[in-house]
Amino acid sequence: MNLLQLSGIEDNSKIKTKVCLKCKTEKPILEYAKHSHYHDNLDSTCKTCRKNLAKLRDKLRKNAPPMPKICDCCKKPPVKFGNKKNLCLDHDQETNQFRGWLCEPCNTGMGLLGDNLDSLMMAVEYLKNK
Ligand SMILES: [Zn+2]
Ligand SMILES: [Zn+2]
Repeated sequence: MNLLQLSGIEDNSKIKTKVCLKCKTEKPILEYAKHSHYHDNLDSTCKTCRKNLAKLRDKLRKNAPPMPKICDCCKKPPVKFGNKKNLCLDHDQETNQFRGWLCEPCNTGMGLLGDNLDSLMMAVEYLKNK
């Protein structure tokens, strides 16, 4: 323990920061919620962005067409995934507009593939050439 800590003064140079994936801003780690899935136990998106996203999804949900029985992408009924068995509301991250209802595997898969046409087309091309 050094003198600064003894006197109760925070040493600012020691406050850790992390860059938010969403707003690309460097923020103190206090701005991130705890998240056991990540290697540093912190969310990759800051609390402000999380809150904005939750608000946006609420708004989209209110205006979205009713949840269909089958996934808009694979046309299959939702499978049980973790403890959920629902379709997820999918939105375009560029325009913030409602896009469709996706089952968990499609939603997760698209997210992992980059959630854009270019990278999905690369996956399609890859599969076509096999
Ligand atoms: Zn952010
Ligand atoms: Zn699906």
